[in-house]
Amino acid sequence: MTRLLDNLAEVRERIAAAAIRSGRTSDAVTLVAVTKYVEVPLIRELMAAGCLDLGEARPQALWNKAAELADSTGTIRWHMIGHLQRNKVERTLPLTSLIHSADSVRLISEIDAVAQRLNRVADVLLEVNISQDDTKHGFQPEQLLTSLDQLAGFPNIAIRGLMAMASREGDERQTREEFIRLRELRDQAQSNLGDQAILKQLSIGMSGDFEIAIEEGATIVRIGSQLFEGIDT
Ligand SMILES: *Cc1c(COP(=O)(O)O)cnc(C)c1O
Repeated sequence: MTRLLDNLAEVRERIAAAAIRSGRTSDAVTLVAVTKYVEVPLIRELMAAGCLDLGEARPQALWNKAAELADSTGTIRWHMIGHLQRNKVERTLPLTSLIHSADSVRLISEIDAVAQRLNRVADVLLEVNISQDDTKHGFQPEQLLTSLDQLAGFPNIAIRGLMAMASREGDERQTREEFIRLRELRDQAQSNLGDQAILKQLSIGMSGDFEIAIEEGATIVRIGSQLFEGIDT
């Protein structure tokens, strides 16, 4: 397990250094440990090291791991980071602190309806397709701006910011440009929304590009493979 702790320490150091380069401190950036590659024993090791923000990309996997870790309900903050089908909202929302992948008005309308029945407000990030890749989920930037009024009108939804993934094949310059575009879109959306919502969060950055993301304003990074490198998962 020392390898996991070494990896975690290295990731935390790199986060802190990138935060300083962006004029912030490491507490301005939340590390979400993406646990989709591993089983519960390794997750418990992460939790023991203080990693309590955990991310899963598939609803079913999140349900199963939340059930296995039910003794830690209330300690873990689960993040839904992958595509969420509307018929899975009912089971997913009660387990989840933040849905990063709110990618359509129809999905958000369903999350609002379920949140209303649960008598709570659902925190969501709007997923944006910044890579112009048609196979990816997410709002197109223009579509996001024209949908904002409708999205801000759902009474049981709190929009906390934006989420995106950089192009898979992009080099560093392209990745940085995509992250800058997302930040500018956030600033535009914030100015359109006024005080209807505070879009503080930018969920960008994975194992291969989290330092660039932090330099460009990420407040949440979602890191999986870098944490588990060299470990037999
Ligand atoms: C898997 C996944 C990550 C983590 O990716 P790594 O490259 O393993 O760090 C982040 N975000 C999403 C949406 C993912 O599906």
